[in-house]
Amino acid sequence: MATGQKLMKAIRVFEIGGPEVLKLQSDVVVPVPKDHQVLIKVHACGVNPVETYIRSGTYRRKPLLPYTPGTDVAGVIESIGDGVSAFKKGDRVFSSNTISGGYAEFALAADHTVYPLPETLTFRQGAGIGIPYFTACRALLHSARVKAGESILVHGASGGVGLAACQIARAYGLKVLGTAGSKEGEKLALQNGAHEMFNHREANYIDKIKTAVGDKGVDVIIEMLANVNLSNDLKLLSFGGRVIVVGSRGPIEINPRDTIAKESSIIGVSLFSSTKEEFQQFAALLQAGMEKGWLNPVIGSEYPLEKVSQAHEDIIQGHGKMGKMILLP
Ligand code: NAP
Repeated sequence: MATGQKLMKAIRVFEIGGPEVLKLQSDVVVPVPKDHQVLIKVHACGVNPVETYIRSGTYRRKPLLPYTPGTDVAGVIESIGDGVSAFKKGDRVFSSNTISGGYAEFALAADHTVYPLPETLTFRQGAGIGIPYFTACRALLHSARVKAGESILVHGASGGVGLAACQIARAYGLKVLGTAGSKEGEKLALQNGAHEMFNHREANYIDKIKTAVGDKGVDVIIEMLANVNLSNDLKLLSFGGRVIVVGSRGPIEINPRDTIAKESSIIGVSLFSSTKEEFQQFAALLQAGMEKGWLNPVIGSEYPLEKVSQAHEDIIQGHGKMGKMILLP
């Protein structure tokens, strides 16, 4: 260790594998911010499903080993590099990406991926904004190009992206339908923008949605588990309807004919294909939501840093989501 270097606790991954490859280390060097970078003292970090795909090697982007996972931190600016004018030491912030990894006591981030966190939101809530809210913005605005007055089905409304999509869609003037796998999840989504909820574990729930949307069908479906639902989704759409694929964990057989009469579209979403300008555009909408109070991240399960392996198991295996999962360093 060079003189003057500070050490911190952080999760390190040295090999691709199961949740057990997530190792807590207490002698990781605290990074120093360079040009247009900031160092954040992490108070909370969001856990996202993508971090499990990267760790297990199933994601298209392979990590450079060893690494610290995590993109969505909330905390306080500890120090800034040259050229940073938007932030100063002590500012409350949240991030939509990190350079050094968020599962740690400190995280380095480029200044354009960091945003002010208002006093009205807790650090836990700040850690729930990043991937879920920016993905919901991209799915709704960029991919679906939603219009006020349209109807939307958030297929998987009880988790991180789903609740964010419900809040944004409601604020945008859409008629919001959603699904969850538990009564509590349904209730939570109703409190966060959904007008009507259905249980995706009930055998006949698709029929219930069909009755609710009538012959016209639903204009937009935000899909969290396309490998299970895509075929049914195509049958629920209105003329010109769009299925926006946010999540999918395997293949599914569909009948392409189901897209013909209604001229439907199936559109994939990739948050990290967003340009810097698109991130700024989504951030402006989210900023407005924070100012007006409709952006209100719901925190579900919380884990200390040393229980990170359990968090990675639970985010994939767990059912009955109740909002955003977070880690507390
Ligand atoms: P999460 O917090 O773990 O939530 C998962 C959601 O899926 C819950 O609402 C869950 O409901 C729901 N679900 C479970 N079974 C379902 C079913 N049969 N039909 C519909 N929904 C079902 O995860 P998240 O952060 O919201 O992410 C959701 C998905 O989107 C993940 O696969 C993630 O990898 C993906 N994602 C993609 C992007 C992208 O850029 N494409 C970005 C972010 C996330 P219950 O638990 O109530 O059953």
